[in-house]
Amino acid sequence: MKVAVCTKQIPDPQAPQHLGEDLRLVRSGKALLDDADTYGVELGLRLTEASGGDVVVVSMVPGGETAGVRQALAMGAASAVVVSDERLEGADALTTARVLAAVVRRLGADLVITATESTDGYTGTVAGQIAGLLGWPALTFTRGLHLEGSRVTAERQVEDGVWVVEAELPCVVSVTAGIVDPRYPSFKGIMSAKSKPVEQLSLDDLGLGVQVRERVRSAREAEARSAGTVIEDDGTAEAAIVAFLESIKVL
Ligand SMILES: Cc1cc2nc3c(=O)[nH]c(=O)nc-3n(C[C@H](O)[C@H](O)[C@H](O)COP(=O)(O)OP(=O)(O)OC[C@H]3O[C@@H](n4cnc5c(N)ncnc54)[C@H](O)[C@@H]3O)c2cc1C
Repeated sequence: MKVAVCTKQIPDPQAPQHLGEDLRLVRSGKALLDDADTYGVELGLRLTEASGGDVVVVSMVPGGETAGVRQALAMGAASAVVVSDERLEGADALTTARVLAAVVRRLGADLVITATESTDGYTGTVAGQIAGLLGWPALTFTRGLHLEGSRVTAERQVEDGVWVVEAELPCVVSVTAGIVDPRYPSFKGIMSAKSKPVEQLSLDDLGLGVQVRERVRSAREAEARSAGTVIEDDGTAEAAIVAFLESIKVL
């Protein structure tokens, strides 16, 4: 079984972020493996360790960056495919999904794993778009997964409960944080990641002629938080707090 795990390489979330003149996030410098994708890498490794096969990590990123995919290779993925092309500058989610779907077709993957949403863009749309482009089932918001032969059973986390859904391979699965505990790369894994194959592809290699059509019109700082509401306990505080938490759908 070939499992393609989509891994986004993002600017260090701990470092200060700033926007360029085009109002897009400045993506120069080292990119790291999005923490949200470590769960997908771990799931892919566990599935292939149990049923045979390989994990290939797939990433679209400016400048041929590989630092993030090397982290996934150090965890145990067998190889990586990185797509970079100047024509992808400012790529939106659908363009990204087109690129990732083309790589999946080229690999002949049986299963695609993504995170539910990335840490820096968080549209949460890429998994569904890849599935739509490939014509495969999309098992989204997956918090538990079982593979038996070619049958995938997923527990989907929804707002007020859990759905259990099934699909046959090939399919696309987006996973929530916590579906599995990602392993830490061992020293041996870090050393062997340096020599694992990383294929660099352009749009021409994929036979794609994409046109980036989205632009950012404006951007502004989020409003500062207001002081909040103080509830004095005159015996009704508990009910007031419960009512407030219900109004924001925490309860
Ligand atoms: C402002 C901005 C400018 C950008 N400019 C460029 C650019 O110039 N060149 C470029 O190559 N990319 C660029 N990107 C990255 C690319 O466009 C995003 O990956 C894409 O828009 C997906 O959006 P998202 O992160 O909201 O996806 P989501 O739907 O939130 O992502 C869900 C999951 O899909 C997978 N995924 C998403 N994106 C990728 C990816 N790129 N590679 C592998 N897996 C992925 C991950 O598993 C991710 O957790 C840019 C992104 C932003 C936000």
